[in-house]
Amino acid sequence: MVRRRQIYEGKAKILYEGPEPGTIIQYFKDDATAFNAQKKGTINGKGVLNNRISEHVFTLLSNIGVPTHFIRRLNMREQLVRQVEIVPIEVVVRNVAAGSLSQRLGIEEGTQLPRTLIEYYYKDDALGDPMITEEHIACFGWASQEEMHDIADMAIRVNDFMSGLFAGIGIRLVDFKLEFGRLWDGDYSRIILADEISPDGCRLWDMVTGEKLDKDRFRRDLGGEVEAYQEVARRLGLLMEEGAEVTTVLDLDKHRKKKGS
Ligand code: UDP
Repeated sequence: MVRRRQIYEGKAKILYEGPEPGTIIQYFKDDATAFNAQKKGTINGKGVLNNRISEHVFTLLSNIGVPTHFIRRLNMREQLVRQVEIVPIEVVVRNVAAGSLSQRLGIEEGTQLPRTLIEYYYKDDALGDPMITEEHIACFGWASQEEMHDIADMAIRVNDFMSGLFAGIGIRLVDFKLEFGRLWDGDYSRIILADEISPDGCRLWDMVTGEKLDKDRFRRDLGGEVEAYQEVARRLGLLMEEGAEVTTVLDLDKHRKKKGS
């Protein structure tokens, strides 16, 4: 067995050195955290579902011309991606008030926003990812003006595309978080979409019932996390029939883990 070099372990993913220079393998874990990792848990099978969902969304985005780090899915829990220098900013796009926005400004959850809001947070676990403005980004040189222009532009494109994608399967895209990276080519770099897009970093509500199909089920102790993620995958057409494929995939995954392979 080949031992791969681990580059980084985050809250929900592990990054390994890829097979060729400039590539990385993203391994999706079942670990879940919330409230700046004060709440920790495991959602069995989450990694498998997020790997599939993220592959699907990134592939569709790439088809409409949004540059992304995604190359291909390797297996149930891993995908090959381009190595980038992550911009230390979490970009949150909001269509409907929820979560921290509702708490901070006292706007009732579920209120449709009169226009799409983009917020920036500085990626720093020790500081609890504080909210920042473009002024801070420019002042501390976390990204150039040109890069911020590309980032905001892409965030809006991703939002428009994903809002339609999810509306088509009866899901309201409330808000989501994106991360971007610099892809270097000699002395030049360009901004591409990185990380993942999955129910871990989106708020997805059923359009009819309002049921939450995302990580708020874990954050708010609502239960049924896997079922919710599975429902998103099913509606996206990623399960052959009524969850049968993912059930098999999750069983296989459990079996493999037990064998320690
Ligand atoms: N989000 C995320 N990672 C974070 C913070 C937020 O993926 O570290 C996502 C979250 O899932 C939601 C959106 O960004 O879809 C907005 O989150 P919010 O600011 O409301 O924070 P929360 O209520 O999750 O603390």
